[in-house]
Amino acid sequence: MRFGVNYSKDKLRVSIISDMIDPSSIETLRQRIDIVDIIGSYLELKRSGANYKAICPFHNDTTPSLHVSPSKQIYHCFACGAGGDAIKFIMEYEKLNYPEAVEKAADLCNFTLAYTNIKDAENRKKTKDILEQLNLFFTQNLDKSPQAAAYLSERGIGQSLIQKFEIGYAPQSHMTMNFLKQRFFALKEAIEAGVISINDRGDEYAVFTERITFPIYSSNGRIVGFGGRTITNHPAKYVNSPQSKIFNKSWLLYGYHIARDFIMRNKKIIICEGYLDVIMLHQAGFNEAVATLGTALTEKHLPLITRGAPKVVLSYDGDSAGVEAAFKAAKLLSSHGVEGGVALFAGGMDPADMVQKELISELNALYGSPKEFVEFCLEYIAGKYNLKNAHEKQKALEEAAAYLRTLPNTIAESYKSMLASLLNIKPNLVVLGMKKPLRQNDTHNGFEDILELSIIKTLLVNPHLVDMTLDIIDVSMFKVHTEELSLLLEGQKEHSLLRKLLMLDNIHIYEEKELVNALRPFLMSFYEEEIERIKKSSFEFEKKSFLIRKIHDIIARLKKGELVPYESFSAF
Ligand SMILES: [Zn+2]
Repeated sequence: MRFGVNYSKDKLRVSIISDMIDPSSIETLRQRIDIVDIIGSYLELKRSGANYKAICPFHNDTTPSLHVSPSKQIYHCFACGAGGDAIKFIMEYEKLNYPEAVEKAADLCNFTLAYTNIKDAENRKKTKDILEQLNLFFTQNLDKSPQAAAYLSERGIGQSLIQKFEIGYAPQSHMTMNFLKQRFFALKEAIEAGVISINDRGDEYAVFTERITFPIYSSNGRIVGFGGRTITNHPAKYVNSPQSKIFNKSWLLYGYHIARDFIMRNKKIIICEGYLDVIMLHQAGFNEAVATLGTALTEKHLPLITRGAPKVVLSYDGDSAGVEAAFKAAKLLSSHGVEGGVALFAGGMDPADMVQKELISELNALYGSPKEFVEFCLEYIAGKYNLKNAHEKQKALEEAAAYLRTLPNTIAESYKSMLASLLNIKPNLVVLGMKKPLRQNDTHNGFEDILELSIIKTLLVNPHLVDMTLDIIDVSMFKVHTEELSLLLEGQKEHSLLRKLLMLDNIHIYEEKELVNALRPFLMSFYEEEIERIKKSSFEFEKKSFLIRKIHDIIARLKKGELVPYESFSAF
């Protein structure tokens, strides 16, 4: 029942837990573990030269595409791009978060980890105790409030759902305070757990009073807080636990710990706006339903949403606020390459109402064919403008094209004609211009320039050569592997393209002297092409001959063995 998040995307979450494992202990573990042993305990490895190969578990693999390098202690799949070190493999394979994977790796090689921050660990345990006990207290209180029970039955929430989602009732403030005192919890601990607060006059009070309570769990099934709905017409219809180290509503999703297995199995996640929607959808068999905690969907939700690569259905209100929220979320998800669509609920209905009215086939239809994200966004943008006015039409085109430019290349291209027909313009008016290539996979159709790759690999392995090399070369000199070079210069050494390069045995790593010798012909052919370019240009004769003479001079110095600092002629 454990479930992790991508550690590179979600460093914050990791730092919260991993400060408990002593970093130097993790370092020792890293030196101790052998990636071949670790991966070999999950997959059948076959020796292949200095490396090992296996059927990749991260895509539908038929040939062994996953390569494991004992010398570099990394793995890389040449088909799907998955890869990293031994701990990354455990995270991906077992769906664990970073500290959990570290613990698993330690188990696998009988290594005893050291833990730090015992006080922190104790506090965390206290918080967990308080939340668990209070949750029990709230659920046992539900029967004692006829009003709460009436509300739930009115909304059509049955007993089995009440138990599954541990719905409870928070009584009056003093009763909760008494309960905590009886259990000997200190005030400070209760405040840290987010269940007690102090008002302006300095009086303590329970955060959840006279509310139906919904415990909120982290993705790995640990209780982290509550949501509470008033049944006494309190002006705040819903309240959540205050933001804290363990409760961060901007990345949590309500119901995720219950939906997780269904999301993984069915490759689908339904994101709603309310707790009751989630509960009622589960009641109707839509077990992949989760909800944001009263916040808009943001980038911080992405690690959790994209885990297991499910198709996403945004299940939002059909009113103007709901449509706008859906637009923002659809834009965010599509620009991160997430697949899915939007299902809007018209007529003031929400998913919970529809389940209650037993409109299950209608729900199935809505969730079965949501409006695809990009289509939804383009229609939304077109709908904002009065397209009968030429100026407004131009603005619509600009906004829509700017949005398309945020998408991966091929996807953006395939929506050009749809945009043109939405705006009733000719398709060639939709200009998407230069866009970043899709960074996940190889973008040059397998064509490799060995010299370029060797230079990049050399710099990757010998970072101290980067400065010297950058004095004499420029990214613009690279014809094929500009992406790899840019990634290297951006310091994105974990990127799959660079990892793949490390694993390619046919790409040589130069010694410093060899590098200089390799750069010289590389530079010469670049400057010779510059001469050709300038010859063909429409410059005046004098300018042409000046530039050509200058470049000839550079080439002559290169031939003599001198490395000439990079000079750009591209402005000419
Ligand atoms: Zn793969």
